[in-house]
Amino acid sequence: MQLKNSVLLNPGLYIDGRWCEAPSTFTLRNPATGEPLAEVARGGREETERAIDAAGRAFAGWRREPAAERARCLRRWSELMLENRDDLAAIMTSEQGKPLAEAKGEVAYAASFLEWFGEEAKRVYGDIIPSHKADARILVTKQPVGVVGAITPWNFPLAMITRKAGAALAAGCTLVAKPATQTPLCANALAVLAEEAGIPAGVFNVVAGDTRAIGEALMASKAVRKISFTGSTATGKLLMRQAADTVKKLSLELGGNAPFIVFDDADLEVAVKGAMASKYRNTGQTCVCVNRFLVQDAIYDDFTAALSKAASGLKVADGFAEGAEQGPLINQAALEKVEEHVADALQHGGRLLCGGQRHELGGTFYQPTVIADANPQMRLAADETFGPVAACFRFNTEQEAIELANATEFGLAAYFYARDLGRVWRVAEALESGIVGINEGLISTEVAPFGGVKESGMGREGSKYGIDDYLEIKYMLMGGL
Ligand code: ADP
Repeated sequence: MQLKNSVLLNPGLYIDGRWCEAPSTFTLRNPATGEPLAEVARGGREETERAIDAAGRAFAGWRREPAAERARCLRRWSELMLENRDDLAAIMTSEQGKPLAEAKGEVAYAASFLEWFGEEAKRVYGDIIPSHKADARILVTKQPVGVVGAITPWNFPLAMITRKAGAALAAGCTLVAKPATQTPLCANALAVLAEEAGIPAGVFNVVAGDTRAIGEALMASKAVRKISFTGSTATGKLLMRQAADTVKKLSLELGGNAPFIVFDDADLEVAVKGAMASKYRNTGQTCVCVNRFLVQDAIYDDFTAALSKAASGLKVADGFAEGAEQGPLINQAALEKVEEHVADALQHGGRLLCGGQRHELGGTFYQPTVIADANPQMRLAADETFGPVAACFRFNTEQEAIELANATEFGLAAYFYARDLGRVWRVAEALESGIVGINEGLISTEVAPFGGVKESGMGREGSKYGIDDYLEIKYMLMGGL
């Protein structure tokens, strides 16, 4: 990998402001080519405990820094990310596979959380409450929760870390990040820049490697007061159980099963554009990607034909190739899940409009796929495909659409396209999801609260609400006045 700033590429562990080795390493591979990228340190229990100790020691000083100083560090960190945008994107495309243009977009998105939360650090206000006693006063202040463990997935290797680290550090918390084993190099590049931005030793640590050992060390530690996790619902449930023993606070951003409803009064062209962005971005590997298209009867054929035309025109290629629009899936297991979902859908009466096969590029590349005549008996109706497969269900009435959309235990993002104002309000309020895109397929931004209801998790990230997850409320009663 050719980088302008080669120090960004570090295969070690970042603990207490120092780069360390681990007793063993693992080979990280490029998902597009299968070629080895680096021998990366495989951290485990001991390294995690050292990182937690360092974060605990650093907490005392970091929480006392004036908010403006924490803000300055976060702003500088954000600027450094943008200054190194091309290199960070190249590291990301190499280890994660997404097209370079998307990777560059993610760098800016990830940097935005650091800037945003740096600004929010200055606005952690308390309250004075009218007292219930004449000789007493009631004050409310907010304090950082303490050491935070951040466990993040591979699909957004930078943004999922900064969304947590920005809020945590702004609040005065210190953090141990456990990135996904597939994407440690992005996390480490962030650590290089954190140090350059002046973030003190121990405030931000990164330990990648043995997932189970690192996870258990974080969950068992009494010093870790909060876990912020983004990943699968199964892992989220496990962490929730493990958190019980030490009553850790939890923020969980788990799986979704996003519906995308197209009503017959929708602008078809706009709906197809939104559908493409929301479905095929990151090869369909995001928790807010559409999993179920619900299309009203009168425009069903027009919509599915237009979607399949657009999908079959996507350029599938190595993320570094000029004009690449869809990269590989992250690994073999992801490819097999997509194949299983497609086979199952076809067995249950699905009609293939395009794709449906592995791509001729081989490896984990898969063709952009559209399946018509989807129905609730198919596995993909209940289970997130996490791949480039658009399954289109048909409905007649608004009520039927709402019921279908909500017929899932998940509730992260939902989208719908309609122009009737009454319908827009009715449907937006009836959807059981934390996020609703109305005539819009891309909903992620640092200024808005991201998070789910039902089994999609708890807590919100980004926006003015995001910092609350890292703060404790303290009430002081001053008596005898
Ligand atoms: P995905 O399907 O996106 O890989 P996971 O929930 O498996 O979802 O992974 C998300 C993050 O959680 C990754 O960093 C992964 O290593 C981590 N993880 C997976 N299992 C555990 C576990 N038992 N304890 C702690 N972290 C885990």
